[in-house]
Amino acid sequence: MSSADPAPLARRQFASDNYSGMCPEAWEALQQANCGHAPAYGNDAWTARASDLLRELFEVDCEVFFVFNGTAANSLALASLCHSYHSIICHELAHIETDECGAPEFFSNGTKLLLVPGAEGRVEPEAVERTVKKRNDIHFPKPRVLSITQATELGTVYSLDHLHAIQETARRHHLALHMDGARFANALASLNVAPKEITWKVGVDVLCFGGTKNGMGVGDAILFFRKELAEEFGYRTKQAGQLASKMRFLSAPWVGLLQSGAWLRNAAHANAMAARLQGHLAQLDGVEFISTRQANSVFVRFPEAVRSALSELGWKFYTFIGAGGVRLMCSWDTTEAEVDALAADIRSAWTSSARGME
Ligand SMILES: *Cc1c(COP(=O)(O)O)cnc(C)c1O
Repeated sequence: MSSADPAPLARRQFASDNYSGMCPEAWEALQQANCGHAPAYGNDAWTARASDLLRELFEVDCEVFFVFNGTAANSLALASLCHSYHSIICHELAHIETDECGAPEFFSNGTKLLLVPGAEGRVEPEAVERTVKKRNDIHFPKPRVLSITQATELGTVYSLDHLHAIQETARRHHLALHMDGARFANALASLNVAPKEITWKVGVDVLCFGGTKNGMGVGDAILFFRKELAEEFGYRTKQAGQLASKMRFLSAPWVGLLQSGAWLRNAAHANAMAARLQGHLAQLDGVEFISTRQANSVFVRFPEAVRSALSELGWKFYTFIGAGGVRLMCSWDTTEAEVDALAADIRSAWTSSARGME
């Protein structure tokens, strides 16, 4: 290895699904897209094919755009749904509120986010109703959009029934419905339904479909199910620096993932690894989970002694995401052996911490 080679992490980690590399299907498509010349700015065959595959997958004629990441997808999509004097209702733990550095407000020129609480990271229709009805005077930013995250920031998913109730509330109050689907594939794998059942059929107007966490290197897709909302959206992406000049390198990995079915296999695998981890942790004496595992993450409370013991053993994890505690996240490439190794280290840290407290 030359000195220019950065040292790889000694092992796969559970800090984020963004720690993972690209899956072989995405990588291969990228390599194929690298053969020769192709038209720029999205006028190439790969981008057309990726868009068609998404339309086939969702069984609907929708407008498709590819941008570099989820923050851009969410904030530009939201900006296209409202004016600056509007407001967007979302969960208090929503990524658009907690992890996008104000980008949704910035790109919409000041649209305010109205936060609602809700168990396990989900927005409840009643909370939306209360928020809409609280004020209707000219001094308050008019609620215009409801944004939900599927799977949620706490690794749970919205059921079909819950989505129907959300749709009914949104329709009654003339709210557009935005779905942050950074982990949409994980939610689908968990619910085992067709993509249309939890998107346009339940009133979702715009879906931000995450490719990065699913096994791509970079890039998320934006799907406008109400096509008129996408009018002039291309200008928005260009102005925001999100129109890739060599677009085929964003879109080709989507072709690789969608054509091979890897997108759903990857998500189902990550979910299964999180289920395995959760199963191990459930055996610890007095363990407390923060949310119910339904997708590819486990949220759990660890005593400080356990957290530092794990850090010393080289395990990386976040403690500031969601509702606090420790977030353990599985990826498309997480192996059973790695889950078991982490669980074994947690178990021994857990037992010594319990002994220390006696
Ligand atoms: C990761 C993630 C995003 C996108 O984040 P980027 O870092 O901008 O790609 C959006 N929403 C949720 C819920 C996420 O977890």
